[in-house]
Amino acid sequence: MKIEFYGAAQCVTGSCHILKINNKTVLLDCGLYQGKDEKEIGNEEFNFDPKTIDYVILSHAHIDHSGRIPLLYKKGFKGEVLCTIGTKELCSIMLPDSGYIQETESEWKNRKRIRQGLQPIQPLYTAKIAELSMYLFKGVNYDELIEVFDGLKIRFRDAGHLLGSAIVELYIQEEYEKEIKIVYTGDLGNTNKPIIKDPEYINYTDYLIMETTYGDRIHGDIDWSFKELANIIKATFERGGNVVIPSFSVGRTQEVLYALNKYVENNELEDMTVFVDSPLAVSATKIFEKFSEYYDKETKELLYKGIKPLRFKGLVFTSSPQESIKINKMERGAVIISASGMCEAGRVKHHLKHNLWRKESSIVFVGYQAEGTLGRAILDGKKKVKLFGETIAVNAKIYSLEGLSGHADREGLITWVDKFMEKPKEILLVHGDTKAQENFKTLLQSKGYKARIMEMGQTYYINEHLKLNDQNIKYRIIKELNSIENIENISKDVLLNQLSKVINGDEFIKDK
Ligand SMILES: [Zn+2]
Repeated sequence: MKIEFYGAAQCVTGSCHILKINNKTVLLDCGLYQGKDEKEIGNEEFNFDPKTIDYVILSHAHIDHSGRIPLLYKKGFKGEVLCTIGTKELCSIMLPDSGYIQETESEWKNRKRIRQGLQPIQPLYTAKIAELSMYLFKGVNYDELIEVFDGLKIRFRDAGHLLGSAIVELYIQEEYEKEIKIVYTGDLGNTNKPIIKDPEYINYTDYLIMETTYGDRIHGDIDWSFKELANIIKATFERGGNVVIPSFSVGRTQEVLYALNKYVENNELEDMTVFVDSPLAVSATKIFEKFSEYYDKETKELLYKGIKPLRFKGLVFTSSPQESIKINKMERGAVIISASGMCEAGRVKHHLKHNLWRKESSIVFVGYQAEGTLGRAILDGKKKVKLFGETIAVNAKIYSLEGLSGHADREGLITWVDKFMEKPKEILLVHGDTKAQENFKTLLQSKGYKARIMEMGQTYYINEHLKLNDQNIKYRIIKELNSIENIENISKDVLLNQLSKVINGDEFIKDK
């Protein structure tokens, strides 16, 4: 069998790996390229014909893993998308939202293009196409062994990265080959993350496809970060300002709510109004509440005590633009959690416009800020930024809570690998920039692991011939002889030659 690497190879977006098993083609994830990868690689064209794909096995709902599925569908893919039930539910809001962003972006570009006398462009896909592509999704339970087709069984294990996120175990049986197991990590979660469970350890695999996002970094402590957030809120309110938290709508927003709930329950934060100002975050929070069976022990205990972990006094979900605009009338005492997480789009830009220039207010980053984004510029200490064509001074206090990553850090990754009872035959590294990957590869090698960094477009072959015993040699010979047409015309020498190849486990060559 072979694996081809067509995304998140030496970068962190556009996850997409192709498995060829028994004449079937399976995609592991089908993610959107974002940021600089989008500019350099582009999303429009696939390196394969979407019509030839039989299945997509999806690790989790993040757009850099799922965001090209609607495009795959638009270009003729009619197979099944297999994922956990939680991932399916999150995709049902995240993919149409992604389609809506594609539509808005192309509309904005087209206004410019028309003025320049250029032909308008089409969005990558629309919200409608994304909705339609959801018919292909089949949600399954964690820990259930599923036969996808003859020769491929899979099982999703909890990756502890996002609600519904999974590590995929693949059991592959090809003709004349030993059954092999491949484990694909998807994105591995950070331990002690709020709400969801920690990543599960896997006992055994032959080959491992592994993410390395933070292969060269150690995160801060999560509890310390949340304590810091509470302190920032108190200090900001004392100064008479508001706290703006640019946050990804799905995952990070719910984690921040979970932390704030704890402080409200303990009466450590009072007289506070927390606005969740993102329609996607409102829907995502409802899904988080629906899937309480995915919660970790601490969060389940809260439920048993009758505490709703994502609801508290003073929490307001705003849906309409009018409600969103009203928030800006508040001068102090508001915590505004809004998207996008990197401040490139969405309602958070309005809240920044009203708070960045005020020295009483605070901006708290709770997620990664990619190079070239507004969030990164603010974090890097720019004194003035442009918002809606207007220059805004940055006078607010700027904070970044480093401990809140969704990904395991270097220590988390190596601890997870060390839990295998036997070292995998080879570890194929994906989803990381060059520095993180090189760094983590060196660490793996120093501990006796065989590891390699996969390159874009690279093919990795796995051939593990079955040790032939008399019984399966006989089976193979009969099967191969039956498959030859006009066997009476084959000379004895050719036939003997062919049979010896069968016995040696080589391909049976059918030329005469
Ligand atoms: Zn992810």
